[in-house]
This record gives sequence, C-alpha cells and structure tokens, in this order.
Amino acid sequence: MIAILKHGTTEAQQEHLIAWLRRMNVDVHISHGQEVTILGLIGDTSKVDMELLSSLEIVESVKRVSEPFKQVNRKFNPDDTVVAAGGVKIGGGHFAVIAGPCSVETEEQIIFCAQAVKDAGADILRGGAFKPRTSPYAFQGLKEDGIRLLLKAKEATGLPIITELMNIRDLELFAEVDIIQVGARNMQNFDLLRELGKTDKPILLKRGLANTLQELLMSAEYIMSSGNQQVILCERGIRTFETYTRNTLDLSAVPVLHELTHLPVVIDPSHATGKSRLVPPMAAAAVAAGADGIMVEVHNDPVHALCDGAQSLTPEQFAQLNQRIGKIREALQ
Ligand code: PEP
Ligand code: MN
Repeated sequence: MIAILKHGTTEAQQEHLIAWLRRMNVDVHISHGQEVTILGLIGDTSKVDMELLSSLEIVESVKRVSEPFKQVNRKFNPDDTVVAAGGVKIGGGHFAVIAGPCSVETEEQIIFCAQAVKDAGADILRGGAFKPRTSPYAFQGLKEDGIRLLLKAKEATGLPIITELMNIRDLELFAEVDIIQVGARNMQNFDLLRELGKTDKPILLKRGLANTLQELLMSAEYIMSSGNQQVILCERGIRTFETYTRNTLDLSAVPVLHELTHLPVVIDPSHATGKSRLVPPMAAAAVAAGADGIMVEVHNDPVHALCDGAQSLTPEQFAQLNQRIGKIREALQ
C-alpha cells in the first residue's frame, strides 16, 4: 500500500502519521520525490484502515500495490534511482559504459585492457576474479590474486571496478571494489542477496538464464529489503529454443523494467549473443531502447582469452562501438 502526501505536509505531521502506522506493525518506507512524498507501507497492512488513512487531512490518496515487489517498485519511488560508484553515476539520465575482459588473467593483461578501455571512453572496468564456470575443469579465475590485480588496474587508470562475488565468505576481499556483481547463476541465491543487502556497496544484479523479469525484481527486493538501495539490474540474455546465439537478448527488458522499477537497467550484449560481431549492433540497440548503461567484454587478444574470447571485442572494435553509441545517445537527446 502507498500513501501519497499532500504538498505542504510538515515534518511533524509526517512523523506523527508514520509513528501511527508503525504502531500497527507496518514498516514505512519514505520517498521524497521531486513532485510528491510517498509513504510505502510494507508488511501486513491488514490492520490499516484504507478509508481512514485516505480521509486524513495530509493524505492526498492511498493505493494498494498489488505487485509482490515493493521497494523496487516505481510506485514506491517514482523518481529514477541514480547509483553512484567511484565517482560514476548510473541511472536517471546518467549513462555508464562498463568494459573489460571476462577474466583477469595477468597483471599486464588487465592493466593493458584497463588503459585501452579508458582511452576508448569506458567509465568502469570489469574483470572476473571468481568465475562461475559450467565445467569444474575450466579456468576458475585468479580469485584473490585477481582482485589484487584489478585494484592495481584501478590505481593505474583511476577507473572504478566491478567484479563478481560468488560466495559471501569472500566479501572482505571486495572492500575496495566499487560495484559487486551477482552473476546470472546466483540471481536466486537468496542468502547471498540478503548478505549483500547489508553492505553499502552498489550491486549489479544479472538476470538468471531462465528467470522472469518479476523474479529479477524479487531478487532485487531481497537486496533492498535488507537495507541496500544501490542496485543496478542487468539483462544478459535468457535461454530460449534459439541456439544460434549463446542466449537470446530480451531487449524489451529495458522499457518493461523502466516501467516497473526506478532502478537503473544495464545491458550486457556480450553474454547475450556470445559472438563478438553481434555485440556492436545489440549494444547500439540497447542504447536506443533507453538502457542506462552497457557492459561489454573487451580483451587484448580474444583468440587466446582464457574465457569468453569468442564474444570479446578487441580494444579497437570497442573504441568504434563507443563512438557509435555516443552518436546514438546524442541523437536521442
Ligand atoms: C560475467 O559477466 O562474467 C558472467 C559470468 O556473466 P553471467 O553471470 O551473465 O553469465
Ligand atoms: Mn564472460
């Protein structure tokens, strides 16, 4: 349930109303928007008399929120959330380009890639240290050493970094990481989401291979309801009957999620297509669809990459892509 307050409601009146609602054991989430102040009531609202609430002098209107996601819901928070990470903003008109290799391989490789993507205009460096691989025999990432090398690349270039956390026991290694990624395979690892909700780190939550948008939003709700409001959603392709591409990029996720939630939406055309030549057109389409950012895999030597070489752009290809999306963004303004 949400209660929209009238213009001119004083702080004291608002506090008084919130205290009354809390006495009925509902949690109250306050959103001070540009236009209105909204109180979002979470929990068992059966004791709240809607008619009585609506009749209060300071209350403009009261609505039931039928969706199971509440804090994530745009009805709770009409203004776009802007997530800030290491000086970079994402959402609410701020567009971010995240680029870098699938995995951190060596110091030279990650520093070279970091510098190359920075020179080409990237805002944030990506690189996997803990890799969720389908085969236990495949390269599993450099783990702790990978994080250390990413931090060196951050220091060398000044780019904020994003990397995936698979197990909460590794959280302390992520102290200097700017955005923690939850991978597609962990989208419904609810214990992990709850623990990340207790941190103050921005979280990029990737959509699961076979999850609906509502399930993605419910997973974001786990993080937000544990206290962390800094969530970025990422569509990275879903499983369908199509086998030509690695996954099927559900671009309609962008406008649908923008309708349903205030959280920023990023598109990953690399994992979505699995083929480097398909990355630029799908990245361009994502920008045109209104995405708040893209995350693209870029490798200094894709043919010899330890992971996901086939979908990785060379630095030159990435630079071209970035110019192209710059023009599309200009055209949209
Ligand atoms: C990744 O971004 O490195 C990754 C493993 O992606 P996903 O979780 O989307 O497969
Ligand atoms: Mn990858």
